[in-house]
Amino acid sequence: MKVPGARSVELASRLRSRESRNVTFLADDFPVFWESAHGATVTDVDGNEYVDCTAAFGVANAGHANAKVAAAVTEQAHRLIHGMGDVHPSAIRVELLERLSSVLHPQLARAFLATTGSEAVEAALKTAILATGRSRFAAYHDGYHGLSFGALAVCGIERFREPFAAAIDSKPLLLDFPRAHDDAREAAAAARERLARNRALAGLILEPIQGRGGCIVPPAGYLAEMREVCDELGIVLIVDEIFTGFGRTGDWFAIDHERFVPDILCIGKALGSGIPISAAIGRARVMDAWPLSDGEALHTSTFLGNPLGCAAALATIGELQRLDLPARAARLGTQLGSRLAALRSRASVLDVRGRGLVWGVQLRDAREASAVIKRSLAAGVIFLQSGADGATVAIHPPLVIEEPQLQRAIDVLERAIEEVS
Ligand code: PMP
Repeated sequence: MKVPGARSVELASRLRSRESRNVTFLADDFPVFWESAHGATVTDVDGNEYVDCTAAFGVANAGHANAKVAAAVTEQAHRLIHGMGDVHPSAIRVELLERLSSVLHPQLARAFLATTGSEAVEAALKTAILATGRSRFAAYHDGYHGLSFGALAVCGIERFREPFAAAIDSKPLLLDFPRAHDDAREAAAAARERLARNRALAGLILEPIQGRGGCIVPPAGYLAEMREVCDELGIVLIVDEIFTGFGRTGDWFAIDHERFVPDILCIGKALGSGIPISAAIGRARVMDAWPLSDGEALHTSTFLGNPLGCAAALATIGELQRLDLPARAARLGTQLGSRLAALRSRASVLDVRGRGLVWGVQLRDAREASAVIKRSLAAGVIFLQSGADGATVAIHPPLVIEEPQLQRAIDVLERAIEEVS
């Protein structure tokens, strides 16, 4: 197999002349153009097959082109593709909101549907402002919540925020995200001290496991401690499960692991299995800070509650339940974790961390991680580079990945790490 093949190379040169140069990294040996994907298998335009260990940014939890999702979307497309955001809603929107409440804590009672993750985050931030009458936010170093302006305002990765900082009104108060080996109580106490010094804080936003930041897992108990800190200080706690939600961490949501309820939960990505749909779902007392619509909604969008997205989400939730995918992620994650732990003895592996089907293998630098990813691609496995410094190889396959596929992917990763170091 030649990777990239001739057709990928040809498409790359056409893309180069038409797309913003910022978007796609193009090199002699990268990327491959996808033709189709099913389950955890991707086929490129040259007919090469790969094991997908990315779930395409954590979206394809129920598998690429899941048959039930595809059927639901097709059926919906023949009936109603587009509804009206804040006027004349569709019935399927009500169905989805009710279904979502059946998989969430009953206190998460009111939702804003949206299209992208960043939009869900922005709805959550606006809610916190209305609920508190304050306007500053706290977030975490290396945290990632999207790149639109509102989401950028709480971005903990300087590189993304800095060029646009002048147009963003306030800088976030950035806390240190603790590591698994830190003491949860001490870390929460340190965060509390910094938060308490800021009187203008509307909310704190956090990822239960930092994804883009390199798959950083906090110490057990930390998130629940931060729930108490936010209660004490009257700060709205926004938990961003756009990446970790829908079974990824071995529970339906990572917050289930620590049994606490945020004020607002943001979801997206895997919710629609690839049809863009997201939501910010909050406790009534926070969400009801929004004024009652008088026909001119203060916050809405054209595609809010898009019927195709709703159909995809309903079918995705059905598949996660039918196939018990959160439990599958937990089971496969235990096997994966013990195989990856063996990599710790390699000199080039600085850390291995994760839970369920979200893992990071941190190498010495970005150059090594990139080389491992390119070698793996050539051997038929797709991984993503992650971490603020780009030194982590991220592993987060569809939750339906077959065990032999996962084993093969890790064989390839081991060999690539061996060759590169
Ligand atoms: N939050 C988290 C935790 C994410 O991982 C992402 C996307 N990687 C976003 C928000 C932003 O979502 P989107 O790209 O759909 O705007």
